[in-house]
Amino acid sequence: MPETIHLDALVLGGGIAGLWALRTLRERGAGVILLEARAIGGGQTVASQGIIHGGVKYALGGAASRASRLIADMPARWGESLAGNAFPDLSGARVLSDACTLWTGGGVGSRLMGLAASKAIRVRPSRLDASERPPPFDRAPSGVDVYRLDETVLDPCSLVRALAEPVLDAIFSGDPRVRTPRLERTDEGVVCTIVDAGGNELRLVPRHLVACAGAGNEQIARDLGLETEVRMQRRPLHMVLARKPAGADLPRIFGHCVGAGSKPRLTITSGDSGGRTVWWIGGQIAENGVDRSREEQIAETLAELRAVLGWVDLEGIELATVRIDRAEGFMPDGSRPDEPVIRSVGRVHICWPTKLAFAPIVADRVSELVGEPEHPQPMIEAEPPPFAPPPWAIDPSSHEEIAWTDARSAGQA
Ligand SMILES: Cc1cc2nc3c(=O)[nH]c(=O)nc-3n(C[C@H](O)[C@H](O)[C@H](O)COP(=O)(O)OP(=O)(O)OC[C@H]3O[C@@H](n4cnc5c(N)ncnc54)[C@H](O)[C@@H]3O)c2cc1C
Repeated sequence: MPETIHLDALVLGGGIAGLWALRTLRERGAGVILLEARAIGGGQTVASQGIIHGGVKYALGGAASRASRLIADMPARWGESLAGNAFPDLSGARVLSDACTLWTGGGVGSRLMGLAASKAIRVRPSRLDASERPPPFDRAPSGVDVYRLDETVLDPCSLVRALAEPVLDAIFSGDPRVRTPRLERTDEGVVCTIVDAGGNELRLVPRHLVACAGAGNEQIARDLGLETEVRMQRRPLHMVLARKPAGADLPRIFGHCVGAGSKPRLTITSGDSGGRTVWWIGGQIAENGVDRSREEQIAETLAELRAVLGWVDLEGIELATVRIDRAEGFMPDGSRPDEPVIRSVGRVHICWPTKLAFAPIVADRVSELVGEPEHPQPMIEAEPPPFAPPPWAIDPSSHEEIAWTDARSAGQA
């Protein structure tokens, strides 16, 4: 007969939402375990661009939306944690840049000036003179307006480590033989069976089940017979990676190129791949590229890079693409929810933060739902799952190595 362990909460999924919820529940003294099916952070979180948005991106369409107002408080809250002044202490997370650059061609700048004056957003872009511009924007031709936006960019892998490492004794892979935790609905509530290091089965009986499994929440809802009450949407992206061949390097860029539309044409963040800078490129190009083949997406991105960063040396550039879905609470019109979504059916709570920046809000709400702790933290002997690498090491969707194509073979040299 497997041993039964009673918990205040069982959290499924070790992305930003599950990890922040776990930290918060542990801090309150709850008996809580997190099960991660694959690798810690290995869903959308390590694939994210790591920008702690303050709302400007959402306000580009014109008047500040509800989303931009809600998100406006987030940078200050994250800032306190990143400085080690507030719980959770995230001083171990690597800040890649303390600001994003917004750059644009002629004409669109006036819209940014309007935003800069808007009272509805707290983090406003400030226009930079030629002497104030960071490289490579210091060499941008006249007609390109450049702004600084005080939105921090984090290295998502180090963020995940900073959140998970203090609570690794509560993070398990469940059952390494089946990868996904086995859930059942019984008279006791939801029961989850896991296997410890000695191969023994343990029955986890939580008062509350907190599903933070990103795209995996869909299957969890189905397993629990909740698929009609709890619906999810996916908004797919066809992201692009770019780097120079060995011996050369791209300049590090953290920012958005703003065009005539309501979303950035390109959002570029920079990581490190074996000592070389790698650009992780999202924005409109990744949304519009969903129906393009890999080759078409690479050709399209090269053309876009030449159009918006024409003064940067792109000679010999190599590109790759990665497909990944954003998993969110269902919206009837398919748009991005304005805030984090938590659907509760009894004591089952299915959560999508919508943005990294909203993870603290998910954790606060989960903590309220779980209420006062009733069970102690159990001691379980089991290996924690591995930490996920960045998307330029292993493709987060296919779990395969990245295949690079140089511009010449893309027919674009
Ligand atoms: C390309 C991209 C760029 C983004 N950039 C930004 C950005 O710059 N700023 C921002 O604020 N937001 C950004 N986002 C959004 C942000 O990344 C997500 O909102 C956030 O990471 C979602 O976190 P999560 O914990 O809900 O899910 P995930 O990070 O997807 O984590 C879910 C975890 O659950 C695990 N899992 C799945 N099924 C199960 C199961 N049955 N049992 C146990 N575990 C399971 C998975 O392996 C995974 O580790 C971006 C998203 C994408 C895709």
